[in-house]
Amino acid sequence: MEDYKEQRDRLVSYLKASGIVRSDKVERAFLTVPREEFVSGEMKAHAYVDTPLPLMHTGQTISAPSMLAYMVEALELEAHHKVLEIGAGSGYAAAIMAEAIRGSGDSTSCYKVLAIEIDQDLVSYARDNLQRCGYSDHVDVILGDGSLGLTDEAPFDRIMVSAAASEIPRPLLDQLAKNGRMVIPVGSAAWSQELYLVSKDESGKIKEDYMMDVVFVPLKMDSGLSRDEP
Ligand code: SAH
Repeated sequence: MEDYKEQRDRLVSYLKASGIVRSDKVERAFLTVPREEFVSGEMKAHAYVDTPLPLMHTGQTISAPSMLAYMVEALELEAHHKVLEIGAGSGYAAAIMAEAIRGSGDSTSCYKVLAIEIDQDLVSYARDNLQRCGYSDHVDVILGDGSLGLTDEAPFDRIMVSAAASEIPRPLLDQLAKNGRMVIPVGSAAWSQELYLVSKDESGKIKEDYMMDVVFVPLKMDSGLSRDEP
């Protein structure tokens, strides 16, 4: 049987040594959440290779651990933050963020990540994975079009967008709290996307900082929940 813990420890050592994981809370999150529980079947053997992996039959992928680590570090999560993820996929990124938030507060603090997913099969998949790993009290997976955000729950201190948008969706900018941060891949061509850190200051002014070139699956912007994709 595979010793996943050993592989997980080795991956985290690599992420730390390369300067991608910088904070204790993010290190703790990556050491705690079992990535093998968020990928299926034969993919489990590759759970601790620093690479994106396919999510079931959906054509979607769980991001490489290093990419997720860059994004989570850039968010600078704190225990009191209200966090939104767009594109829950397997639920892994949401679990990492829930764990990082827990790591930055006392054990009594109430923390929750809201994760929107447009694909009904992945909503069920993410919920199952999160429940099996003990995160269902700390992450809510919601079926919907994340490009619209979640009006009823806004504003959000932190937003992670896990799929590439052709431009930053206006509702997400509006739903970002003052002093809020959002990480989002932007670009419509598959091989020319850029990751941005978007911050909103106390006066509501938006700043966009380029982080790096990236490759993500596209954010569906068709607002309906139709799964009859071409
Ligand atoms: N963060 C995920 C991987 C995300 S892959 C993980 O840790 O596993 C990108 C995800 O975004 C896919 O699951 C895809 O179905 C979803 N997605 C694409 N467009 C979306 C939209 N408009 N709203 C919500 N989810 C969307």
